[in-house]
Amino acid sequence: MQWTDRRPDGMGALGAPRWTVKAGPTSTARLTAGGAGRKLAGMTDNEITGGCLCRAVRYRAPGEPLWVAHCHCESCRRSSGAPFVTWAGFPKDAVSWQGEPPRRFASSPGITRSFCPTCGTPLTYEGARWPDELHLLVATFDDPEAVTPARHVYWREHLEWIEPGDALPRHEGSALED
Ligand SMILES: [Zn+2]
Ligand SMILES: [Zn+2]
Repeated sequence: MQWTDRRPDGMGALGAPRWTVKAGPTSTARLTAGGAGRKLAGMTDNEITGGCLCRAVRYRAPGEPLWVAHCHCESCRRSSGAPFVTWAGFPKDAVSWQGEPPRRFASSPGITRSFCPTCGTPLTYEGARWPDELHLLVATFDDPEAVTPARHVYWREHLEWIEPGDALPRHEGSALED
């Protein structure tokens, strides 16, 4: 199944965001005291931190994603402004947020994306096919090299002038399909 983002009528259809902003004393202190990528006392290696360009939105996720993949679909391309993007999947309830809640919108039926309402950095993807997962854009990690992509997906939509030099599998659609 292929999805596209050619349905601007879906924008805003989801209504109020349901982000849980867990800005407890500990995380707030870390957020205030820490610069980008700085590891503070008490912050374990088993954690991924990241956020948007202007730092209004910050998140924390487990150090081991469920999977990491490059996506070449037109929707990701258009929503990011980049030729392709790299996603990491996490259990939805294992990701916590600090600061400003991301702005969410339905990019196509069953698919919700989010971005920083201040600077516009795209941040997340949620799909009805993965109801328990939240996908984070690896390029928004404080340390994007902390994870390693394992595959290319939606290769059938890739730009002809994108020819990665890696030997990773290239799935025509999602990794579930082929
Ligand atoms: Zn921002
Ligand atoms: Zn995509």
